[in-house]
Amino acid sequence: MKLIKKLLLFLFALLIIFVAYLFFNMLGFDSRQLTADPVAPRPIDKAAIDRFSASLRIKTVSPENLADFDSAEFRLFSSFLTDNYPLTHSRLVTRQFNSYSYLYEWKGSRPDLKPIVLMSHLDVVPAMTSNRADWKEAPFSGVVKDNVIWGRGAIDDKVGVIGILEAVEQLLQENYQPERTVYLAFGHDEERGGIYGAATIAQYLQDKGVEAEFVLDEGMSILRGMVPDIEKDVAMIGIAEKGFISLELKVKIEGGHSSIPNDETAIDVMARAVVKLKDNLFPARISEPVRSFIDFLGPEMPFMNKLVFANASLFESVILGIYQKSSTGSSLVMTTTSPTIFRSGTKDNVIPQIATSTVNFRILPGESSASVITRVKNIINDERITITKGEFISEPSAVSSTDSFGFQKINQTIAEIFPGTLVSAGLVVGATDSRHFNQLSENIYRFLPIVIHKDNVSSFHGLNERIPVHEYKNVIRFYIQLLKNGTLRN
Ligand SMILES: [Zn+2]
Repeated sequence: MKLIKKLLLFLFALLIIFVAYLFFNMLGFDSRQLTADPVAPRPIDKAAIDRFSASLRIKTVSPENLADFDSAEFRLFSSFLTDNYPLTHSRLVTRQFNSYSYLYEWKGSRPDLKPIVLMSHLDVVPAMTSNRADWKEAPFSGVVKDNVIWGRGAIDDKVGVIGILEAVEQLLQENYQPERTVYLAFGHDEERGGIYGAATIAQYLQDKGVEAEFVLDEGMSILRGMVPDIEKDVAMIGIAEKGFISLELKVKIEGGHSSIPNDETAIDVMARAVVKLKDNLFPARISEPVRSFIDFLGPEMPFMNKLVFANASLFESVILGIYQKSSTGSSLVMTTTSPTIFRSGTKDNVIPQIATSTVNFRILPGESSASVITRVKNIINDERITITKGEFISEPSAVSSTDSFGFQKINQTIAEIFPGTLVSAGLVVGATDSRHFNQLSENIYRFLPIVIHKDNVSSFHGLNERIPVHEYKNVIRFYIQLLKNGTLRN
């Protein structure tokens, strides 16, 4: 009896120590939110709204098929820019790349300071003719109705191009002189990979020996009601982005007539390979950007979440389990596996010789396209299947620091323009043009100052793309404030 009592006491003491340890970690888990005095919203006149809506009327579409590229619209956009932003075009050095991409250079007064780069893209995805009728306002109308601006590009990503140009033009009117040089880089083919736009601009800057203090591109935004257990708006600054590779699997086995089938056909082999890949997903793990997200938002969460997040290493499997409950969550903690094309056979009574499938992978930082291929080969483990890489490959980016000058200034600007909004670092699951700039700076951030919520999240590349007028005004205010904060020495 005595022994059992002692043992129980011992276990109880252990439990107390464990709980004390959890609480101790929580004590040190302080808020990382910056406090800054809000900047009074500047008046933005109606002409600025009109210019934005006019820009949305120009169909700078990156088509599925390059043969459908409409150069006349891109030339129209070019004259739109020179006509509407006269100071920018007279006081900044403008360079064109492959005719329709632009780099503006606003020379700073202190050449010893590293320049900053603001990026955006002026092309948009097509608005499918098949679902035009489902748009409440025509996709290239630029209509302003009930204080909402409608059109393709309203959030992806003409809002960046025009928002930045409005900010620069306004600062030029006020005779603002930056200390750091500012580059504005606007690509015209982001939706097709950015090879002629962003990549060419980046190469030019690299050849010139430019090293940027920081680069800011699109990628993440202000999330409203989209982070579980957090009511406030959350501005997400992407500090890394996932990589991209598609692999085509192909098998060729003698076919024949379906009345006397062989034991194993090309379709069987391919089907098995794809099932194996889906049954052996990449291991889930907390990568650096997700770890940062936990550190930024954990302290702002309700008690239990906070306790778990404050002890993230201890509760790693619990946290991963929570993430993996949803497909959005899963995409943040693992290299994802998506079979997207599956092809074989043409006739119901003929066994085909060839079966192919394409599987798309989005690669977590810390892994690579090469490590994906090795793993896929090992899992499929079938010599008859050949594996070919797709044309477009993007390695996962490096992870940028949350302590850098750039991150601090973006963070401060958010606090000043969007008071009450929480700020967090995060991982971008798509690919942005900023990946072409990875040689130019260690500090690459992905944040567009627009608000995303459940009603407009699917309008990216989807239907009814739009932005409320007051939110667009904040986009301009954000870039004005960032240009001020980010171009001074400290
Ligand atoms: Zn975009």
